[in-house]
Amino acid sequence: NTFAEIDLGDALNLNIQRCKYVRPTPIQRHAIPISLAGRDLMACAQTGSGKTAAFCFPIISGIMYGQYVQRPRGRTAYPLALILSPTRELSIQIHEEARKFSYQTGVKVVVAYGGAPINQQLRELERGVDILVATPGRLVDMLERARVSLQMIKYLALDEADRMLDMGFEPQIRKIVEQMGMPTRGLRQTMLFSATFPKEIQRLASDFLSNYIYLTV
Ligand code: AMP
Repeated sequence: NTFAEIDLGDALNLNIQRCKYVRPTPIQRHAIPISLAGRDLMACAQTGSGKTAAFCFPIISGIMYGQYVQRPRGRTAYPLALILSPTRELSIQIHEEARKFSYQTGVKVVVAYGGAPINQQLRELERGVDILVATPGRLVDMLERARVSLQMIKYLALDEADRMLDMGFEPQIRKIVEQMGMPTRGLRQTMLFSATFPKEIQRLASDFLSNYIYLTV
């Protein structure tokens, strides 16, 4: 069981080789085929399990091979995928990994987080974005300024969902997902990653995911 046996597209497979990933971790082995098959996913995953690649690979592959309508030009950015993460540090880390995975694929990754000037991040978004990695508060700010639209989101990944709720981000997360339009059946593919599954996470999953597969490894 190696990455060479999973067809994610030549460019992405080459980047995986460059990262020296040979064998998928357990979470990757199970989550990637589920996501490539178009199913929603709730997965139990700790830091160090390889969850970043587990959600990045299907998103990058899906954007490389998907058919998307022309996105409007102008100051508002229309990402196709959104990765929500609780902290600036984690967002930066996901962005760095996602950039390595998407090298020479034509897929553009941009990061937006709080605690840093917004203007530079807005300028970066204006140059185009396929995958937006963001913390919830900063993204809400950008949505309120109408500098980002979530109307074309096809992939949503919630990373460390339990931590986001612990940090009080539930209202922001709900506001963000509402802007993607509901019901979402068939339109959006959602992946929720969490280390723990209290009632609140299960409620998020039943509100945001559709006919999902629950994975524990
Ligand atoms: P994560 O849990 O996504 O933060 O990943 C933990 C670490 O494992 C990161 O340094 C990854 O680059 C690395 N990693 C993830 N998947 C693999 C893999 N299949 N083979 C080798 N290293 C990996």
